[in-house]
Amino acid sequence: MEEILNKIRARNPNQPEFLQAVEEVLTSIADFVEKNPQYKRANIIERIVEPDRVFIFRVPWTTDDGDVMVNRGFRVEFNNAIGPYKGGLRFHPTVNLSVIKFLGFEQIFKNALTTLPLGGGKGGSDFDPKGRSDDEVMRFCQNFMNELYKYLGPDIDVPAGDIGVGAREIGFLFGQYKKLTGRFNGVLTGKGLNWGGSLIRPEATGYGSVYFAEEMLMTRGETLEGKVCLVSGSGNVAQYTVEKIIQLGGKVVTLSDSSGFIYDPAGIDDEKLEYVKELKNVRRGRIKEYADEYKVEYTPANSDLDYNPMWAIKADCAFPSATQNEINKKDAENLVKNGVYVISEGANMPTTPEGVDIFLKAKVLYGPGKAANAGGVSVSGLEMSQNSQHLSWTREEVDNKLRGIMVAIHEQCRKYGMEEDGFCNYVNGANIAGFKKVADSMLDQGVV
Ligand code: NDP
Repeated sequence: MEEILNKIRARNPNQPEFLQAVEEVLTSIADFVEKNPQYKRANIIERIVEPDRVFIFRVPWTTDDGDVMVNRGFRVEFNNAIGPYKGGLRFHPTVNLSVIKFLGFEQIFKNALTTLPLGGGKGGSDFDPKGRSDDEVMRFCQNFMNELYKYLGPDIDVPAGDIGVGAREIGFLFGQYKKLTGRFNGVLTGKGLNWGGSLIRPEATGYGSVYFAEEMLMTRGETLEGKVCLVSGSGNVAQYTVEKIIQLGGKVVTLSDSSGFIYDPAGIDDEKLEYVKELKNVRRGRIKEYADEYKVEYTPANSDLDYNPMWAIKADCAFPSATQNEINKKDAENLVKNGVYVISEGANMPTTPEGVDIFLKAKVLYGPGKAANAGGVSVSGLEMSQNSQHLSWTREEVDNKLRGIMVAIHEQCRKYGMEEDGFCNYVNGANIAGFKKVADSMLDQGVV
């Protein structure tokens, strides 16, 4: 495995996030591959780390002042062994090839866990929607789609949202796709309810992450009732994570954005959550305004510190729901030291490898992103099913299916992640279960 890893490192220089994701998966599956020589014979590892194809394109657009801007667009079609490429689009200034490849690689295994026929892909741009008018965002989305549409199709590649891409952006992207192709089909998920979207899609990632936490807790005969929870981020995933925790009787005391975090020891209730939704989704303001409104503590982000004080607050559960590598070794140590024993990752790869080691050594209930946040893509898969049948399921139907899928993902993790002393290593479980399904499909389909 080390030999293969060296080859991958040499072939993908300057792609730290991608290499981080690959190293984690390969370390997890090393023993499994050793015991199953068919994968080695077919050189599955070297094949699975190489995307089927990568598109990188220029996206020119015009500001309201008439200035011409240029951003870079990406789409990585990573693996379609079990279904059409599926994975979100991220608009954020930190987007580059490494970030998109890490997300696309993770997506292969996550999608395999969902029990649905979905391949892995990811895309996005280094465009920053923050501070841009709706018209500017629309022009950017239209120009982004002017190139991307060539590679999409309901049975080929079906993008969705991610950081910086919500209902507004999906609307503009779908409008332009339709204009260019003349087709109305399920080529994007996360669509508006009036035009092919699914109920529960906006809620799905956050709800799913909380369902996953409940499943982990149930293995210890516990529930979320009365648990104090730390949530990071304040976007789509964070908002619906808070909503479901409140419904299940837990208490959320933090939220954040890239400028800082709030600490509300009384807990975020339904009314305060509505305020956050309005603040973030309509006014597009900063989380500091929550602290001003409810007179609670606000701590600005401080890059001089080698830890995030938010993760040092006493609590039972943590739901990182902002971005990659937001929990480092010291944060993980602080979390464990201050009583956190359930971590359910709404974000993708929010914990560094050193942080993951701390969680595994402490034998806490640690649900990695590719399992815990798979609810979003799962309901995207359900949106595709509804689109192809030209019907809409009720809220209750979709929520029940989501819950069932999260239970199934949890079971697969336990099947492949149980250790001799009864501890479940969900990282190994998720990686092995996801890998096995994709690798077996690749074996069936020959060397292509
Ligand atoms: P949003 O854009 O709705 O929200 C992102 C939140 O994270 C914002 O509060 C943002 O703050 C914060 N954030 C983003 N980048 C950084 C950064 N570099 N440092 C600190 N804070 C940051 O995105 P989502 O809620 O959709 O996504 C959050 C995470 O969940 C991502 O990792 C995404 O990949 C993952 N995910 C999302 C799914 C979905 O269905 N949406 C599905 C599965 C995973 P600010 O506004 O200041 O940037």
